[in-house]
This record gives sequence, structure tokens and C-alpha cells, in this order.
Amino acid sequence: MPVPWQQHVSLKPYNTFGIDVTARYFAQAHSDSDVRAVLAEAHRREVPVLVLGGGSNLLLTRDVEALVLHMASSGRQVLADDGQRVLVEAEAGEPWHPFVQWSLAQGLCGLENLSLIPGTVGAAPMQNVGAYGVEIKDVFAGLTALDRQTGEVREFALQDCAFGYRDSLFKRNPGRWLILRVRFALSRSLQAHLDYGPVRQRLAEQGIEQPTAQAISDAICSIRREKLPDPAELGNAGSFFKNPVVPAQLVEGIRARFPGVVAYPQADGQVKLAAGWLIEQAGWKGYRDGDAGVHRLQSLVLVNYGRASGAQLHDLARRIQADILERFGVTLEMEPNLY
Ligand code: FAD
Ligand code: NAP
Repeated sequence: MPVPWQQHVSLKPYNTFGIDVTARYFAQAHSDSDVRAVLAEAHRREVPVLVLGGGSNLLLTRDVEALVLHMASSGRQVLADDGQRVLVEAEAGEPWHPFVQWSLAQGLCGLENLSLIPGTVGAAPMQNVGAYGVEIKDVFAGLTALDRQTGEVREFALQDCAFGYRDSLFKRNPGRWLILRVRFALSRSLQAHLDYGPVRQRLAEQGIEQPTAQAISDAICSIRREKLPDPAELGNAGSFFKNPVVPAQLVEGIRARFPGVVAYPQADGQVKLAAGWLIEQAGWKGYRDGDAGVHRLQSLVLVNYGRASGAQLHDLARRIQADILERFGVTLEMEPNLY
């Protein structure tokens, strides 16, 4: 069945920054056959394709002279259950947080720390989404992707994906793989990860010593709601910069000047710096230039107060990068995908 292409579609409702740019063409894929039909038609017409999930890790700096293919496939299922380990699968277009909530309602543990992350299941492997000490690689059981170069469908196991800190094979090869569905190995017994940020403290405040996965999820949701702007109210794409992982020597130099530097030693001897701390220290927290700004509570988050363009936000990001490099000798890498 042919999939209709719309023309000159505003992408404002399709990106969480709320940037008002236009897609030359726009189509939605509800199934693998929709994906194939759209890609074949785009190939025939020689139109480039930009795959879009929830638009929550994207900064659109110009009109998209391409076909935007919005992943709208749905479905989630249990593939295997031995009473303890449970293999689940979800289609790429499934919204991430409702999928996490569904898994918790089945009594399945493993995704609770990844609650309330916006976006879709299909985009989650792109940057190996992570929060509160858990990344999807920790529960990843495989994915099915279409090779856009050859049209072949390929299965990926954990070792094939080259997952790293907010990174993967898929992110490093933009436009090559279209992820169709993802599988997760979940468990009926909880292995709680509570040592990150204020999670344990929040549970203790609620008088919970032996939390369930649902209680951990609820605690993380409440922390996130307090700290992070809701894109429905204030445009943003979450953390705009990755936390830089730098040599220990560089951190010692910074610590000599700033004893309060927030730094986490890594297993390989390097040190992860909290980018938000660097940006706040440099005085950017709450900064606003027109409608582009740095959030007043969380300096890692750039925000659109209404009519900021992607180019304005990109410009602000570059000014912050230059300032942090000059002050601390640290290069900040942008996290969202730039178009
Ligand atoms: P999109 O923004 O639509 O796309 C991102 C990239 O993936 C694009 O390059 C796109 O082309 C590509 N893509 C999308 N779908 C597919 C597919 N099916 N196949 C191939 N390529 C695809 N991230 C974290 O890691 N941890 C967090 O805690 C976190 N918190 C956030 C909080 C807020 C308030 C916001 C706004 C964002 C946050 N993010 C976080 C970032 C973002 O939500 C995640 O990276 C999410 O996985 C992006 O999903 P998406 O569907 O919105 O992707
Ligand atoms: P936070 O708790 O204020 O901590 C600040 C930073 O310190 C985090 O970015 C985190 O790094 C790091 N950190 C905290 N405790 C750590 C520990 N025990 N060991 C190692 N590193 C530690 O962070 P936050 O901004 O409120 O975010 C909470 C979690 O949600 C973080 O994991 C963050 O990555 C995630 N989050 C991500 C996005 C996004 O768009 N990518 C947006 C919002 C929140 P890490 O980032 O490496 O975890």
C-alpha cells in the first residue's frame, strides 16, 4: 500500500524544542512495509530521508529539505518467560515512558531507572539512553534494523551495537540503520540501583527501605519533575551537552582553582566531570538571550522560551562551549543530533 506524503509540514509539534521549521515532505510509518514503501519511493524520487521518533534529541537549525519519516509503529509483547527472566520486544514507534510503565505493570524489573525519558523505543539505542546509573545496554537483548544502504534487515546482538556513554554504532553512522524494534531482557526480581544522585534519599523521605521497581520509578519521576522542564511547557531537548570524560591530571588542575568541582572517577582512570557544574560555575545558569536560554534550575538544559530558532540555540551552545574551553580547558560535546 502506498504511504501518503504530505508537503510543507511544520515540525513544531514534532520536536520537543518546539522549533518551527518546515519539512519539505512528511510521512508516517506504522509498519515495516510502510517503512519499505516510503524508502523505496524516496529512493525513486531521489529525496533524502530524515527518520524522526519523538524529536526529543534533535536540534533543527533550518527547514528540512528532505522527507521526514515519522516512526509511528506500535506494539509490545512478551517473547519468552522462564518465570524469572523475561524477554520483551517493542516496536520503534512506541513511546518510551509508557513502555517502561507497561513493563513495570507486568511485574518486570530493569527499566525503572529509565523512567520519564521522552522519545521512542526505536531511538533509545541511538545514544544508549541512560539515567541514574542505568543505560539500556544493561538490559538490552537485541534489535532489528533495516540497512538503508542495502535494504536488508539485520539482527543486532549487544556486542554488535558498540554502546558507549550516550553513544552507539547507530549514532556514529547517521542515516545508515533504521531501527524497527528492540528487545530487552527483564527480570521478575529486582536488582536495585539506588546509589546515583538523590534516589535513595527520596525513597528514605517516603519511608521506603525495601523499594519495589515501581517505587523506584515513582521516586525518579518525582525527582525529574522537580528538576527538569517539561517540554510541553518549555521547549528543551534534555541535557544539551554530554558530561566530558577527561584525564585525571586536567581535573587536578581544575580542583586546585575550584575545590568544589563535581567529578566522578571512571574505571579506566579518567574522570567524568558534571558539565552542568562547569556551566553553572561559568555563570550561565538562568542566562537568557531573546527566547534562547539556559534553564534556571538545570544549567545542562538549553531552553526555548517560545520563538527561538534552532540557529539561535546552536549559537548559544557554541558560546557556552567556547567559554568552558577557555575557563577550564574542557571541550563540551553537544548531545542532541543537529540538523
Ligand atoms: P529523536 O529526537 O526523534 O531522534 C534522535 C535521533 O535518532 C535522530 O538522529 C533520529 O534521526 C534518530 N532516530 C529516531 N528514531 C530512529 C529509528 N527508529 N531508527 C533509526 N534512527 C532513529 N536522554 C537520555 O539518555 N537520558 C535521559 O535521562 C534523558 N532525559 C531527557 C529529558 C528531557 C526533558 C528531554 C527533552 C530529553 C531527554 N533525553 C534523555 C534525550 C532523549 O529523550 C532521548 O535521547 C531519546 O531516546 C530520544 O528519542 P526520540 O524518539 O525523541 O528521538
Ligand atoms: P544529577 O543527579 O544532578 O548529577 C549531575 C551529573 O553527575 C549527572 O549528569 C551524572 O552523570 C553525574 N552523576 C551523578 N551521580 C553520579 C554517580 N554516583 N556516579 C557517576 N556520575 C554521577 O543529574 P541530573 O541532571 O539531575 O540527571 C539525573 C540523571 O538523568 C543523570 O543520569 C542524567 O544523565 C539523566 N538525564 C539525562 C538527560 C539527557 O538528555 N541526556 C536529561 C535529564 C537527565 P550522567 O549523566 O553520566 O549520569
